[in-house]
Amino acid sequence: MARVLIIGAGGVGGVVAHKCAQVPEVFGHITLASRTLARCEAIRDQIARPIEVAQVDADQPGPVAGLIRKVKADLVIHVALPYQDLAIMDACLDAGVHYLDTANYEPPHEARFSYEHQWPYHERFAKAGLTGILGSGFDPGVTNVFCAYAQKHYFDEIHTVDILDANAGDHGHPFATNFNPEINIREVTAKGRYWEDGAWRETDPLSVKATFDFPEIGPKDMYLLYHEELESLVRHIRGLRRIRFWMTFSQNYLTHLKVLENVGMTRIDPVRFEGRDIVPLQFLKALLPDPASLGPRTRGKTNIGCIFRGTKDGQERSVYIYNVCDHEACYREVRSQAISYTTGVPAMIGGLLIADGTYREPGVWNLEQLDPDPFMDRLNRHGLPWVVTEDIPALPD
Ligand code: NDP
Repeated sequence: MARVLIIGAGGVGGVVAHKCAQVPEVFGHITLASRTLARCEAIRDQIARPIEVAQVDADQPGPVAGLIRKVKADLVIHVALPYQDLAIMDACLDAGVHYLDTANYEPPHEARFSYEHQWPYHERFAKAGLTGILGSGFDPGVTNVFCAYAQKHYFDEIHTVDILDANAGDHGHPFATNFNPEINIREVTAKGRYWEDGAWRETDPLSVKATFDFPEIGPKDMYLLYHEELESLVRHIRGLRRIRFWMTFSQNYLTHLKVLENVGMTRIDPVRFEGRDIVPLQFLKALLPDPASLGPRTRGKTNIGCIFRGTKDGQERSVYIYNVCDHEACYREVRSQAISYTTGVPAMIGGLLIADGTYREPGVWNLEQLDPDPFMDRLNRHGLPWVVTEDIPALPD
């Protein structure tokens, strides 16, 4: 049985703690640590099984390595913020434990996320005999596993991939983000980017729009975005000619975002205000609803999946793999809305597959580099069942 240290007690951290607690045969001991102890205690009090809590500043490797040793963890599931990725990876190397996260490193003062900071850890993890799994949420995460599964079972060559992320949830607030507002707004206001014929093509933020008829949700407007799994998938999918990522937004969300952007509230550079420096986006985060508080208010469903086109045995083929998740059902199970749930469940599954020895290849990996079958099996067993269909609604060319 493994001892797991979960770092980060936000919306996702709460789900990971609940879901690890549901698998006592693998996670024999659980510690939940975060910057604010009270948030860990609030989650601990929701869970019937005893779990340990701790305060830690994960911006520094030293205290994290100290905590890993103190609680004798075998594995860290990092669901704090992307800014802490490198410090926690360093701490895992120092203390000699496995590592998993859900979002790639992003320098705090530059809205540009990339695996270029974390892939260079591969040699050090390999040499230490440790496994690091990058991006084990839903997207990235399950979308990478869907790609590996399609490649393994349905295609000789995948020519195009479209990743479609729809949230038809309604939380009743005029404006709120479903996960950390700072990370979410930095992602959405960045330029769009997709990959075609061996080159990246850039688009203005939210300038490419299409409508798609999502199963169990209905037609929604979606926008082309750059998303982090594209960076690894272009390296690992055979025969790929184009890959794009789409996310749905309501007109109301976009109008609010535009106004906030126009008045400078989404800026990430410090602004002098009444004798001190403040970062407008961090101040905005303090004003917006905490994503962890949206659970009891959110109704509706998410649908996230991938559409593949390619060839099998010389024949053209199209396949759509997706999951539908219901916000209210998630809240009933783990007191969280579906965005935190769809991120936290795959984080637990990735951790479980390290802990039980299924994923133990030394080095640092993106999920499409690992065997998708055990992950797909666990998705069905732990609350995120998936559908494979060749009956696919129309998608723009
Ligand atoms: P939240 O903001 O709700 O939670 C983040 C938690 O991390 C908070 O408890 C916060 O502490 C803690 N934290 C922040 N800085 C530190 C630090 N220096 N040391 C220790 N703890 C710290 O975010 P979410 O739960 O919504 O998201 C968690 C992660 O999941 C993010 O990295 C996000 O990008 C990722 N994500 C991935 C997705 C995917 O599909 N792959 C989808 C959605 C999210 P405090 O309470 O004190 O603020």
